[in-house]
This record gives sequence, structure tokens and C-alpha cells, in this order.
Amino acid sequence: MDTARLADLLYPDIMTVPDDWEERYPPRDLPEGARVTRFAPSPTGFVTIGNILGAMVDEHMAHSGGGVFYLRVEDTDAKRTVDGGVALLTEALRHYGLTFDESDENGGDYGPYSQRARAALYQTYAKELTRRGLAYPCFCTGDDLTAMRAAQEAEKANFGYYGRWTKCRGLTLDEIEDNIKKGLPFVLRIRCPEGDGKPVTLDDPAKGRIEMPANDIDHVLLKSDGIPTYHFAHAVDDHLMRTTHVVRGDEWIATYPLHHMLFDMLGFKRPHYIHIAPLMKMDGGSKRKISKRKDPELALSWYAERGYPAAAVREYLMTLLNSNFEDWRRANPSAGLDEFPFSPKKMNAAGALFDIHKLDDVSKNVISRLTASEAYAELTAWAERNDEDFHRLLVRNPEYSRDILSIGRGGAKPRKDITRWDGAKEYLAFFFDELFIPVSPPDREFCGAYAGIYDPADGQDVWFQKIKDLGERFRYCPDVKQYKTDPAGWKGSVADASASLRLALTGRESSPDMYAVMRLLGADRVRERVNRA
Ligand code: GLU
Repeated sequence: MDTARLADLLYPDIMTVPDDWEERYPPRDLPEGARVTRFAPSPTGFVTIGNILGAMVDEHMAHSGGGVFYLRVEDTDAKRTVDGGVALLTEALRHYGLTFDESDENGGDYGPYSQRARAALYQTYAKELTRRGLAYPCFCTGDDLTAMRAAQEAEKANFGYYGRWTKCRGLTLDEIEDNIKKGLPFVLRIRCPEGDGKPVTLDDPAKGRIEMPANDIDHVLLKSDGIPTYHFAHAVDDHLMRTTHVVRGDEWIATYPLHHMLFDMLGFKRPHYIHIAPLMKMDGGSKRKISKRKDPELALSWYAERGYPAAAVREYLMTLLNSNFEDWRRANPSAGLDEFPFSPKKMNAAGALFDIHKLDDVSKNVISRLTASEAYAELTAWAERNDEDFHRLLVRNPEYSRDILSIGRGGAKPRKDITRWDGAKEYLAFFFDELFIPVSPPDREFCGAYAGIYDPADGQDVWFQKIKDLGERFRYCPDVKQYKTDPAGWKGSVADASASLRLALTGRESSPDMYAVMRLLGADRVRERVNRA
């Protein structure tokens, strides 16, 4: 067949040839070993924790070696594309500290960065494959394909457009011309070469070596509207955008043999691949994939509402990504996450187990390491979106709020009272009269007497001595050890006396350092609360 004529017939408007695009998008001028990675989401309007996980791998790989991390919007499937989906994604990623070196929004030399805007590029390569006899138009209708599938099912044959099922593979140029004149829609299919029976090998640092039979299906490359399938766009885009490492979900491994074939046919150098397993979850006694329908924690909004700091989520995800991360963190408690020597080889091939308790634990640690100002900024930002009343109290006197948050912070062993910002209100409530709920302490008389001797000017030592002295008068042993040797001789120890005071002042059995608490509450409030008791 005159395939050059066929190519002109199918894509009469395409005047460009691959060399034009090769010239337009030359290899990147980057330092030796620098990696180019991309985040390539479909803008469905639903951002998942899995998206962040993948993007973290991309970002880390690019930015740890002077490379490029770019955003490519995979909007070829109109049904999955929603308005505002891209903005939602970029905003979510920015919140997690992931920013793009290149994107439609940020610019870059390898754009446009949305696939719908790249139709001419795909069609140039489609035309070239047609010219070389490696692709052909297929006019099969939906009904044809359904009938084929039914016949395959009846014969227990493999599904797909291959071998003797390829109805349109043998059409003559005249037949094709006829169909086109009639205005029949067509897709472009790859013409699979006669296989040599050799398997295809994928070397994936996360998965190890995988061998698969070569592709024998004449997959669709361009749909009838000239928009590519994922497979064809992947090959053309990752080549022209000069991606060195493709990080993607492991559901794509099954079609890797097709991708392998396409890169060969197009004469492109293959990128490295890292396939990420989906997050798993324990359900009853067994592990299963985390699911959009069953697990609200798949959606990023879930984390924002509960007030997990972005840094905590990233830190937690890193524990899922690399099993050695926790040891590294223990050895480097204050190092930045970027300093961690992330390795795709240490990724969990079978899918990491998502565990909310573990996330809570990480979050508690991350929050405890924030400075008071950072904690204030994060807490108020959370409250502004999730708890207006609390927000008003927090910003009424920022200095007071910051002082509250600075109690027990900054030392080698910071307090770990706050797990997520949505728990902060309960914990800090007693600092605000509007939220304080008085509780009657066990020893009201002792508290009443304390009101008489309390002096806000006392230093911590004098302050404590006074509690001990007053306690002794109320038969609380000033020495806890001594009390234990003779509990019958006392009402309790100084610890019990303090507990009464704490309950009167905070309404709680546990609180941060009481001396610091009293200083912040101020003399009037302290007197009022112990007197009220
Ligand atoms: N749009 C594809 C997805 O969301 C991208 C896969 C890839 O990164 O190549 O699954």
C-alpha cells in the first residue's frame, strides 16, 4: 500500500514532521545525573493522598539533583475532566510544599503542558507512523467491537483487537478512501509487528525485574477526535518533554509492553519507570486497597478538616515510602525532609499499609517541634477555615495565644499534647474564659486558702515552696517519697494538693506546667478561679 498517501489522506492538515518537534523541544541542558520528573494527573477534581505520595517521589527525585519537576495535565478524557480541577490540584500540592518548575501556569520551554493543547504534536507522530506502515485507521463501530468481544468470549479467546480479529488491518487504500469520503469516523491503531516471542523486561527499582509477553494487540493510538489515548500521549509527551523518570501507579504495568513497543517504533529512548503500589488498609483481618468509596481518608480534604499539618502528612507519607525513614528521623530529629536520602529501591513493592494511629503519632511529634509562632500560624489558619468562634478567640490577642502555645515548647523534650489542630481547642480551652468549664476540686478549702497567699510576683521556687508549706498545714506531705512510707499519717502528698489547684484553675486533671499556666492566666483569673472553687 502507498502508506505516504494513506498518511496524507488521514491527516491532511498536518504539515509538521517529527524533526520539527525534535528541534522545538531539544534535550534539556541539565547537570549530569539530573532527573526530569512529572506529575501527570487527570483533572478529575478529586485529589487523593495517593496523588501527594506520587508527587513527593517525583519532586524529591528531581530536586535532589538539580533536575526539573513539571506538571502535565492529562485532560484527554473529557468525561473525567472537571472545571477548576487543575487549580484544585495545584493548590493542594502547594499546600504540601510541592511546587512545579514548569506548568501552564508557571511557564516553561516544553509546553503547552495540557494534552488537549498538544493535538498537533500527537498527530504529527501518528501521521509518521502511518507513513511508515506502523499504524492504520480502524472504522469498527461500537457494535462491531461488542460483537467481537462476544465472539471471543464464546471461543474463550483472549479479548482485544489482535491477530485474526483485526477487521480493519487489511483494508485497501481504496476502501479506506471510500470510508473517509463517506465521512465515517475512524481511530488510528498501532500495527503490531510479528512478534519474535521474546518477552519484554521492565526493570523497576520499586518492583524489581518483571518479564511480560510482548504486546500483540493493535491498541488505539488516536481516538476519532484526533485526541490520543494515554499510551500514545505518554510516549510522545514524555519523550518531547524529556522526562527521565516516570513515576506512576502500578495499574500501568499491564500496558507497559505496549509502551515499550511504542518507544521502539517511534525511535525514542525509554525513560526509567517507578511504579507505585496503591495504599492498602486493614479491613477486618485482611489487607485491601484503599478505596474512594469506602475510605474518606483517601481524599485530601479529610486531612485538612482534621487539621493535620501538611508537614506531618508529608512526614508520615515518607514513612510509608521508605522503610528506613524512621531510623533516619530518629538520628536526625530536626533535619528537613528534603535531606532524607530517599531511594526508590526501598519502596514497598506490595503497597504500604495506611495506619491512622501512626499518622497521629507522627503528627503529634511534628506539632511538638514547631515554634510557638509556627504553631500559632498553623492553628489560626486551620481555625479560620473550620472553627470561626475559636479563631476569633485566638486572634483577639495574638501574643497571649502565642504565649499559650509556647508552654513546654522548644526544649529537648517538648510536650506532645496536640495531635491535630481539631483537638487543640479542647486542650487549650481553659485559657479562655468563654471556653473554660469550671470543675469543683476535691479540696476546696485548700484552694480557697491558696487564694490568700498567691503572689504573681513569686519566682518558681518560692511559688512551689508556698504550695508545699500551705499543703503541709492542710496535712499534705511536702515530700512525695516520705508520704509513700507513711500514707496513713497524711491526707495526701503535695502532688494531691497541686491536683486540686490544677482542677480549680484548668478544669482538667492534666495540663502543661502549672507555674507557666498561672503566669499566663494572670493574677485576677487565678484568684477568681481558686476562690470560686
Ligand atoms: N493520568 C495518568 C493517571 O492519572 C498518569 C499516569 C502517569 O503518570 O503516567 O493515572
